Amino acid sequence: MTKQSITQYYQKHRKAIVTATSGLLYGSGWSLGYLTSFEMASAAILVLATIVGGYDIAKTAYHEVTSRTLGIKTLVTLAAIGAIVIGEYWEAAAVVFLFSLGSYLEGRTMRKTRTALQELLEMTPDTATVRRDGELQEVPAREVEAGEVVVVKPGGKIPVDGEVVDGESAVNQAPVTGESAPVHKADGDEVYAGTVNQEGALEIRTTGAGSDTTLERIIRRVEEAQEAQSPTESLIDRFAKYYTPAVIVLAIGAYAVTQNAILSLTLLVIGCPGALVIGPPVSIVSAIGNAARSGVLMKGGEHLERAGKIDLVAFDKTGTLTKGETTVADIEGFGIADDDVLTLAATAEKKSEHHLADAIVDAARERPTAATDGGATVAQADETDAGSRSIPGPDDFDVVAGKGVIAHTKGTEVVVGNRALLEDRDINVPSRIADYVREREERGETVVHVVRDGDIIGAIALRDELRKAAPGVVTALQDVGIETVMLTGDNERTAAAVAEEVGIDEYRAELLPEDKQTVIEAYQADGHVVAMVGDGINDAPSLATADVGIAMGAAGTDTAIETADMALMADDLDRIPYAVKLSKATRWNVLENVGLAVLTVTVLLAGVLTSYVTLAAGMLVHEASVLAVILNGMRLLRH
Ligand code: ADP
Ligand code: MG
Repeated sequence: MTKQSITQYYQKHRKAIVTATSGLLYGSGWSLGYLTSFEMASAAILVLATIVGGYDIAKTAYHEVTSRTLGIKTLVTLAAIGAIVIGEYWEAAAVVFLFSLGSYLEGRTMRKTRTALQELLEMTPDTATVRRDGELQEVPAREVEAGEVVVVKPGGKIPVDGEVVDGESAVNQAPVTGESAPVHKADGDEVYAGTVNQEGALEIRTTGAGSDTTLERIIRRVEEAQEAQSPTESLIDRFAKYYTPAVIVLAIGAYAVTQNAILSLTLLVIGCPGALVIGPPVSIVSAIGNAARSGVLMKGGEHLERAGKIDLVAFDKTGTLTKGETTVADIEGFGIADDDVLTLAATAEKKSEHHLADAIVDAARERPTAATDGGATVAQADETDAGSRSIPGPDDFDVVAGKGVIAHTKGTEVVVGNRALLEDRDINVPSRIADYVREREERGETVVHVVRDGDIIGAIALRDELRKAAPGVVTALQDVGIETVMLTGDNERTAAAVAEEVGIDEYRAELLPEDKQTVIEAYQADGHVVAMVGDGINDAPSLATADVGIAMGAAGTDTAIETADMALMADDLDRIPYAVKLSKATRWNVLENVGLAVLTVTVLLAGVLTSYVTLAAGMLVHEASVLAVILNGMRLLRH
């Protein structure tokens, strides 16, 4: 070992070395006094033990005093100095040794909690194989530029965020999204740095590298979240500010009354608010770390504490309870060919970004090219993929939010939308169409009417499959006593059919986007603590209104992560009961820790006043309570 490496070693393990030295001195001083009659020598060694172990503590205490933020170390220092002054060397050394042993163990366990997340970062490889000038080069992953193509071998870790441009594989995304099952990736799919390519070689066009990857962004946010104080934490901090001086006053008062110095020094030691101050942050840091590793981003202790009180979860229907992959299930022409209904509707919807519009346009494209003309001309194929037809856009187009679209093409007006839109425009629905609509809606499908120049020419039924996990998630929430509600812009009958299939307690249908917010406010006014689950973009207003906004599928979309209090990285509904249970467990854990801390101080205080508790025993129990709350909080890492 060189001199330099010895110094480094000492600095790194200073706390352990100091504690061990002070412990050894304390042990030998004590034995000397106990077994022999070298009392002076014993006292000298015990004082030395106090100085070795107490130097750092006293230094911090000095800072506490000069910055007027009296803390635990001030109390310990006063107690140790006091004990030496009155000749209780053994007590002084014991207090200092036990305290530094306690804070050493505390530091170790806290580090373990905080570094739980660093393991995720270690998932990202340091180097990447990049195609540059037609050659493969190994470069540091942080130096890959956006747009460069990275090659990842089967079994390799993906070093950058990007889009697959060649190859096909199954990718294990657990480090980012928490999903256990690998996800199939092919051309055009998004992949994340830190995930594992399991099967085939992939070529990836980089969109972000280094600190600009989804994984790094998530970890940064989690670290911020862990720093943010929860309401309980800030309450305790404010309390501790007054509490510590109060303990000193109490100790002085006790001495004035009893003239018993040991008693008042013991009061200083057992009055340390250690367990109270350390408990809540450990619980919260552990819970946030646990959640992050399961693909749930919690935005901080405040949200976590609020989530622990949730008693109602509202789900958006489309894209949340359902897959959000709407497809055309059936078309009904009313006096005209089905194909023409579809083509006309697709023209009107072409510029809309609504999921129903996408489904209609896709269905029209995939129809075999036919020469039929339903009032809109089928233009020359301008699409790149052969076999699909091109759909002409409308001349003009208006969105009626939550109702449909109104478009013009070649001098005809085309309206595609729900019953409310037809009512607004005084369009009469013939009974044959009404019957058809009712029948499809009772199956949980959504039907839009297609109107040409004021006459209904047909209807299109669309289906959005339920997510497989949805019924189980609803049951899991109900099992822990949480009410479930589905909110949707869809019509009453479709909503009822879907609600029944999912087994949800309640549903609210035909809601305009702003109505969803009003419904949530109404539940809150009834005294509910409401969580809203939605997609973070369309549902941003209701997510913001809810006590806890939960965004789904947030990896990759920064807006979702921004607006939500809690974000599920994957489209994994299963995470909701998990997150709710973890939040509840965290809330209990915080309460347990606060309770344990208060109980310990109370019992010790009673013990001191009845002279059952000595200075050293007080310190021992105090440190034990600190370690107990830390270990209790850390249980949340493995919840
Ligand atoms: P949700 O997100 O719950 O599906 P929306 O507010 O997006 O609710 O839509 C509500 C209803 O409005 C849809 O079920 C549909 O009947 C009608 N609608 C909305 N946009 C369109 C559109 N582009 N084309 C046809 N109908 C539409
Ligand atoms: Mg929606």
